[in-house]
Order: sequence, then structure tokens, then C-alpha cells
Amino acid sequence: MLLQNKKIAIIGGGPGGLTLARLLQLKGADVKVYERDENRHVRLQGATLDLHYESGLKAIEAAGLMDAFKANYRPDNDRYRVMDENGNVFHDDHAKESTGAFGDEFFRPQIDRGPLRDILLDALEPETMVWDSHIVSVENKNNVWEINFKNGNVATADIVIGADGANSKIRPFVTPIKPIYSGVTYLVCNIPKSGKNARKLHELVKGGKISAMAHSQTLFLSAKGDGSLDFYIGWKAAENWAVESGIDFKDNKQVLEWFKKEFASWDSMWLELFNYDETEFVVRPLYGMPLDQYWETNPNITLIGDAAHLLPPNGEGVNSAMLDALYLSENLNNEKFTDIKEAISDYEKQMFERFADEGKETAEMMEWMYSPDGLKIMVELFHQMPN
Ligand SMILES: Cc1cc2nc3c(=O)[nH]c(=O)nc-3n(C[C@H](O)[C@H](O)[C@H](O)COP(=O)(O)OP(=O)(O)OC[C@H]3O[C@@H](n4cnc5c(N)ncnc54)[C@H](O)[C@@H]3O)c2cc1C
Repeated sequence: MLLQNKKIAIIGGGPGGLTLARLLQLKGADVKVYERDENRHVRLQGATLDLHYESGLKAIEAAGLMDAFKANYRPDNDRYRVMDENGNVFHDDHAKESTGAFGDEFFRPQIDRGPLRDILLDALEPETMVWDSHIVSVENKNNVWEINFKNGNVATADIVIGADGANSKIRPFVTPIKPIYSGVTYLVCNIPKSGKNARKLHELVKGGKISAMAHSQTLFLSAKGDGSLDFYIGWKAAENWAVESGIDFKDNKQVLEWFKKEFASWDSMWLELFNYDETEFVVRPLYGMPLDQYWETNPNITLIGDAAHLLPPNGEGVNSAMLDALYLSENLNNEKFTDIKEAISDYEKQMFERFADEGKETAEMMEWMYSPDGLKIMVELFHQMPN
């Protein structure tokens, strides 16, 4: 058995890391997850996610968690409306009787990040999670990894798996290749109690999602299960726009003035997004790894999820991270490999191939989405989808 008497450290308790921990524990492996969040109650940022038949749902099934998923997913949250800058509707899933059912290849059930994390956490053995563990570096000492934390603690492991997301601290120990800026920046925000704090837009989103597009600019709205509304504003910007703009992002009046100028052709109905005084605006320049990235396999350290293959948001990120977890766990338990390095190498080979394909599609998507024809192409794509 490849993992016999091996201690595995997974760095990062996102969807990728937690899925991997669960899948490895099902096979009896000795796993710890080191997560920088203080505890499981930290509020997770980010809109509702859809899991896909061939990736995220496949991993959930393999993890034996489909019943828990079905008890927590958000039926009808997968209904999209596609609009222009004036709120004219070009596609509306609300007109459909059904968006599909479990087992359908094209059914993409939605779940909030919090409940997804809870399902995975609840499935882990007690003491698996080591919260409040912000990793700063790792060091290989005679084939044992020493893991160093910001708080001065040190842990050891035989195998390290970096699942610590876009700004991975583990990635530099695997490869020097760095992410590249895509040319597009998101302003990411959340309005709590949107039924009260952004009533009209709350009604417009109808408990689902809105993609509004015009003039190479985007506005994505997503209703969350806690009654809040997430929105992402996307446009082409310089990489260090946040600093250059001189905007104080704690002052929503300043952000509103910027929006009025930058999105000048957009209807005033969208300005309601800036009414709530306490909105926290997070600027996210979107990065992606180079599509031809490659590294020589290491004997006992590897990466999954965004740490391995970050891309601008394409609706696949969580799904790809969970699929990595599934493939890596299968390989690490597959007796056909003579050692751990061979199992990792096979995982990385197919991960690079999947990433190259997905990365190409994402680059094309970013190109059309932030072009003057973005709305037209988006609508065509929706109309090509099976009913
Ligand atoms: C604006 C936006 C919208 C998106 N929308 C979607 C979507 O709709 N659908 C979709 O599938 N994907 C979406 N994505 C992408 C998705 O969020 C990621 O691809 C996915 O979360 C990657 O999962 P992961 O487990 O690899 O990493 P993450 O989810 O980033 O998890 C990493 C974990 O590691 C922890 N961590 C980080 N650094 C350290 C450290 N030094 N020490 C210890 N712990 C650490 C973090 O706290 C976190 O818990 C979106 C991304 C963005 C930016």
C-alpha cells in the first residue's frame, strides 16, 4: 500500500482540500488539513456554485456525500436571466418548467460555499482539521516535510498537498511558474438582506442569477441562501487599477461615483447596488496560470485546485479542484503504481492536459465576454443549450 505509515498534510481547507481529505480517509489514510481560517464559522466569500455531473458531482458521489448534497443544494437557484445594460431580458430560465434533475448530464445543481464546506467538514474524522494554521513555508529534511506556520508552530508530514488556492504558499516549492494577469478585473461585493437593502434588484434576480452585459463590461448578480445578494462587476482594467484609481473602497460613495463614470451607459436601476452603506468591496484582478505550464514531478509534494491551475472564473474552478482530489486520491490508492512519485506523476500528467483544454476555452471566453459582442454570444450559447 503506497500510503501505509505515511502522514499526509493537505494545506488549505477549500473544496479541493476537503474533498481530498474525505476521499483519502475513506481508504484509511492518515490525513491532516491545515487551514488558515480561525474556525469553521468564518463567513465564506463568493456566490453560489454549480456542481457538474462529470466533475464536482462525481467527486461528491465518490465521497459518499450525495444524500447530504441533495439535502443542502438550492433548487431553482440555477435559473439564469441574461440582460443588457438597461435590464432588457434576452434569455430567462424562469420561463422553463424545469432545469433538469440529478442524473442528467446537463443538470448543474447550485450550492452555497458555506453548506458545501459544512458537508465536507462533517464527513471528516475528528481532529482532521487544524484551524488557525496559516502556512508560510515548508522545508524538506531527509524526506520529511517540516511545515512552518505564521504563529510559530511547526508540523511534519511525509507527503504535502498544496490546496491553498490562488496565492498558494506551497506552489513555489513545486514550480517557479507564476500566474499571469488576464486584463480583466472584478469588483466583488455582497449585500446582506437584499430584500430590504436592494429591494428592486433582489426582485429582479428572482432567487437565481443575472448576467448583464454591454460594451465589454459585465455585471453578475447571484442570490444566496442566507438572503444576501452577491455581485461581481467586471471590466478591462490595468493590473494595479485598485491602487492607481485612488478610490477608498471602504467608502461606497466613492465606488458609486467611479461606477457612474466607468459604466456611464448603464441604466440607473443598477445604482441600487451601492445604496447599502456597509458593503465591503473587494478588488480582484483575475489571473490564470500559463496554459503550457509543466513541472517535473516531485517525489512527495504536489498541488490541486487553484494552487495548481488557477484560471479566471469560468464556472469550473470548484469542479476542477474536486476532480483533482478524486483523481489524486485514486492514484495514491492504486497498486499499479510502484511508488508515490509515479502516482503523483500520472495525476499531474492528466491534470496538465485537462488544464490546457480548459484554459484555452477560458481564454476564448474572456475574449468574447469582454468584447462588444459579449451579450450576443452569451445569448446564443444559452439558446444552444438543451431544454
Ligand atoms: C469572483 C470569483 C467567482 C468565482 N465563481 C465560481 C463559480 O461560480 N463556480 C466555480 O466552480 N468556481 C468559481 N470560482 C473559482 C473558485 O472559487 C475556485 O476555483 C475554487 O474555490 C478553488 O478551490 P480550491 O480548493 O483549489 O481553493 P480555495 O477555494 O481558494 O481554497 C483554498 C483554501 O486554502 C486556505 N489557505 C490559503 N492560503 C493558506 C495558507 N497560507 N495556509 C493555510 N491555508 C491557506 C484558504 O483559506 C482556503 O480555505 C470563482 C472565483 C472567483 C475569484
